[in-house]
Amino acid sequence: MQNKLSTNHSTLKTILVTGCAGFIGSNFVPYFLEKYPNYRIINLDLLTYAGDLANLSEIDEILSNSKLSTQHSTLENERYKFIHGSICNRELVEYIFDEYDVQGVIHFAAESHVDNSIKNPGVFIETNVNGSFTLLDVAYKKWMEAPFKYRDRYLNGGLSDECLVVSEDENKKKNNSTLKTQHSTLPRFHHISTDEVYGTLGTTDLFTEETPYAPNSPYSASKASSDMIVRSYQETYGMNTVITNCSNNYGPKQHDEKLIPTIIRKALAGESIPIYGDGKNIRDWLYVLDHCKGIDIVYHTGKEANVYNIGGRNERTNLQIVDAICSILDEKVPVSSHFPLSSSLKSYKDLITFVEDRAGHDRRYAIDATKLENELGWKADENFDSGIIKTIEWYLNKYKGKK
Ligand code: NAD
Repeated sequence: MQNKLSTNHSTLKTILVTGCAGFIGSNFVPYFLEKYPNYRIINLDLLTYAGDLANLSEIDEILSNSKLSTQHSTLENERYKFIHGSICNRELVEYIFDEYDVQGVIHFAAESHVDNSIKNPGVFIETNVNGSFTLLDVAYKKWMEAPFKYRDRYLNGGLSDECLVVSEDENKKKNNSTLKTQHSTLPRFHHISTDEVYGTLGTTDLFTEETPYAPNSPYSASKASSDMIVRSYQETYGMNTVITNCSNNYGPKQHDEKLIPTIIRKALAGESIPIYGDGKNIRDWLYVLDHCKGIDIVYHTGKEANVYNIGGRNERTNLQIVDAICSILDEKVPVSSHFPLSSSLKSYKDLITFVEDRAGHDRRYAIDATKLENELGWKADENFDSGIIKTIEWYLNKYKGKK
């Protein structure tokens, strides 16, 4: 799509977006670059096993259509730059803030797989807690000269210094619209978090922004810890922060290790499809692009110091998920033509196998997204039935030829 706005390079505003060669970040960057021609994105990613630059291949096309592009390379462009490195590397993070005049952070980078956190929790604490702290602390020191006082150079938008020094009292008034207006031009730190920080639910209740934290896995505990550190920078230093806690995402580019890609991959390979326990654990599934749109809205219009839950109101048990995927695959790639030599396999559902449950497996997550819907006007564009078809089509293309 052609960008309609033409913007001078010098007016580009730099946003540091971490972890964008992973699942959600790599869906977010193309969406954001296309929508906002006046932003330059710096993608800081360590490219762990979970990150893959091939996830960002469509950036070339977006930038080559943009009037702002000078070079067409996924690695470097006036509007997009990839930096290979860790959010834990303070020297590197400081260099990035200085070199690129970072005026906003959207923080995706994390270790994100619960199973891995059970086997190897240390790296989750290192990346999700220490890494998030490093980013926040550098942002604070670069953007602010004292608690509740942003540096003069960030006080644009025609407001006087005095007006923009937010008192602690003012800061406590979370719903004060004047405060929101005052902070709208200030650099913002947006922390991407998960609904898993709230723990597990009974059969009918929902997670709201007021639900007390009760993380149960090393992954969710590390995310909960980082949420608390973000909160402390807001409360102690008056830093302009927002946090979004999202439910389970699905869609293109998710790593093979996660549930939905595993189901599709194993089915197409004719291997048993592993389902934990009795398969009745419930998650609230959200199409990844709807998450990206929610982040966009919160980053730009969310009230400072606020938390927003993002969720699709699409609760499904793991059994419902595997059943839906197998039914769609049965139609799109019938087993009779995919495995012509197998007489025993009638449906991909025959491959479903129950395996020993995950340790400490939370039973149910479900998000109440009313605040985001009512206050900021977000709503999910996809429901599970529409989103899963798009997802399966993407993976069929990815896995084609790999039997
Ligand atoms: P992912 O595992 O697919 O990607 C994580 C990315 O972070 C990878 O590219 C990886 O290389 C990078 N990374 C890891 N350690 C790093 C480090 N030290 N420095 C720099 N980069 C590093 O994760 P995802 O599913 O895209 O999740 C992104 C964020 O969204 C995470 O913070 C996660 O907690 C949160 N979240 C995910 C979901 C979900 O369903 N996937 C739901 C809610 C919230």
